[in-house]
Amino acid sequence: MSVKIGAHVDLSDAVAQAAEIGAEVVQVFLSDPQAWKVPPFDDSAHPGGAEAFREETAAAGIDVYVHAPYVINVASTNNRIRIPSRKLLQQIMTGAGEIGARGVVVHGGHVTAKDDPDVGFDNWRKAIDALETDVPVLIENTAGGDFSLARRLDRLELLWAAVMRANGAENVGFTLDTCHAWAGGIDLATAVDDIRAITGRIDLVHANDSRDAAGSGADRHAHIGDGNIPAELLVGVVAAAGAPVVCETHGDMGPDIAWLRERLG
Ligand SMILES: [Zn+2]
Repeated sequence: MSVKIGAHVDLSDAVAQAAEIGAEVVQVFLSDPQAWKVPPFDDSAHPGGAEAFREETAAAGIDVYVHAPYVINVASTNNRIRIPSRKLLQQIMTGAGEIGARGVVVHGGHVTAKDDPDVGFDNWRKAIDALETDVPVLIENTAGGDFSLARRLDRLELLWAAVMRANGAENVGFTLDTCHAWAGGIDLATAVDDIRAITGRIDLVHANDSRDAAGSGADRHAHIGDGNIPAELLVGVVAAAGAPVVCETHGDMGPDIAWLRERLG
């Protein structure tokens, strides 16, 4: 089995970091993940800008994914969140295209207690409708919140039905985060089959252990082996998904990558 395994790295230093930790695939932020602004991708982001980044990663044989900022919530019923979220997502999609990224990971978002979740699902459809991009949008399952749209499978089913009605639906894929699924209450033993039955695809796996108990709703990643997810469940998800793998716990991810590679053969 030969899935590509890698990690989240810094934009400014992606190729060197990938070499250091043995990553065949990297994920980057194009901007501060907590901010609404995307700085221009010039020499200050990476020497030579977007074009140099694309050429260097391609020359090194590294596949690149982009993680969209956390502040984005295209499902929101609040105009002052939804409208800037769409604008920011479009900027990230454009930037991802410029660096030759294979996909952009976006959290599934949430509504509030007083909202009709159907409005949130339809806001996702509209967001996909409006996007101008050739880069796939990879919706990621999230760990917590009772009003999340991509935490539990029943909601994911409704979310998928909505986005599949959008123009550009063929460019919508899925990122399965093992920590989020575990903490969010999805059974990892059947997660890949259950999700594929809904989405038809898993494009990327975020292989993170969880500091918390199954179903806790807490989004706290741990290095593989340091958390609560049984090793065989984590390996089982990665093997069954057969998609590129990104480890995204803070700190040295070399051991996480080596651990997975050893067990996947
Ligand atoms: Zn993740």
